[in-house]
Amino acid sequence: MDKIEILKTRFLRYASVPTQSDPTTPNVPSTEGQRDLANMLASELKEMGLCDVSVDEHAIVYATLKANAQGPVLGFVSHLDTVNVSLSPVVKPQILKYEGGDVLLNKEKNISIKLSEHPELERYQGEEIIFSDGTSVLGADNKAAMANIMSMLEILTTDKSIKHPEIHVAFVPDEEIGLKGSKLMDLSKFKVDFAYTIDSCALGEVVYQTFNAGQGTIKIKGVSAHPMSSKGVLVNPMLVAHDYISMFNRDETPECTAGLDGYWWFTSIKSDPLYCTLNFAIRDHDKKHYEMRKEVIKENLEKLKQMHPRAEISLEFSDTYENIANNVSADDKPIAMIFEALDELKIKPIVYAMRGGTDGSALSARGIVTPNYFTGAHNFHSYAEFLPLSSFEKSLNVTLKLIELSVR
Ligand SMILES: [Zn+2]
Repeated sequence: MDKIEILKTRFLRYASVPTQSDPTTPNVPSTEGQRDLANMLASELKEMGLCDVSVDEHAIVYATLKANAQGPVLGFVSHLDTVNVSLSPVVKPQILKYEGGDVLLNKEKNISIKLSEHPELERYQGEEIIFSDGTSVLGADNKAAMANIMSMLEILTTDKSIKHPEIHVAFVPDEEIGLKGSKLMDLSKFKVDFAYTIDSCALGEVVYQTFNAGQGTIKIKGVSAHPMSSKGVLVNPMLVAHDYISMFNRDETPECTAGLDGYWWFTSIKSDPLYCTLNFAIRDHDKKHYEMRKEVIKENLEKLKQMHPRAEISLEFSDTYENIANNVSADDKPIAMIFEALDELKIKPIVYAMRGGTDGSALSARGIVTPNYFTGAHNFHSYAEFLPLSSFEKSLNVTLKLIELSVR
């Protein structure tokens, strides 16, 4: 079987379904295109003969491949949505042989990828690469993973001599707008020992450290009064919020931190003369620091209440996802297997701590260790997103190798 052909055909088919998620609606899925793609995947899974294929009301697809060998039950997850970064929701992929220099994506609209801005292109001299037409992202994030997982299943169901454990797959909506799909997964339909997402970029990338993340809302009710008679009476809720924000270290914000530093992030404020709502998020790789940040949020709130005894102040807070590495280390089986796979395939690992979360962060918070490896693509969330076929194939090779290692 020509792996590149299988991957290519599947990728182009999935990319042609517009599945941009919409952050402005509370519905999951946030867009109907995601449901269309979910149904397409479900019928392909049934055709391949998988068991327990279902699509639930949130367009989450589940399916199981029964084991033909002993090993831990493995899960693979990818997301259905592509990100909305004010580009076209319709993706028109094109495969070009890279001959060096800038790449003209769209003659009519005069859109190119400049080599000076994307020197990583140089690595793929003479190779075939999938690009968008410049008006959209490519959506290799995360349809490269989807094609990878579906191709793996096609290979295992066609060549029954390949040994594999029980494998569960899930395709989830709305990852890009807060990991919503993976948080809604019904884990009774996804009973795995551990799982993988394939949601990093370039060849060799491995992520098992993500942020611990939480978000909160502070509601402040002030006291309104006509300004002519407001001395000692009026309590301006917006200024109360301002006092609160001022209690936090301005050096610990997203714009002032990098690497393993955590931060406070005030994300929105909405006020009128009587009511103010302040939204914020906290992020930290280190679980202890994260818990400390939560304490500081509360302590400062108490100080604020003392400063403004006539204001009514309340706080709501929830944890949103957690660091995959909180409960495991690089030596633990799910992660060690990735390194073993890369080693056997002679792919150099590039490990980094992600300043964000993956579906695996949501699943890890729910008890399923779910590290993440590369799709092979570059420039996620950009019109310049591209997927070299050679790296795409290597990403599939990692998936197949993980399965091989699990039954060894
Ligand atoms: Zn993604």
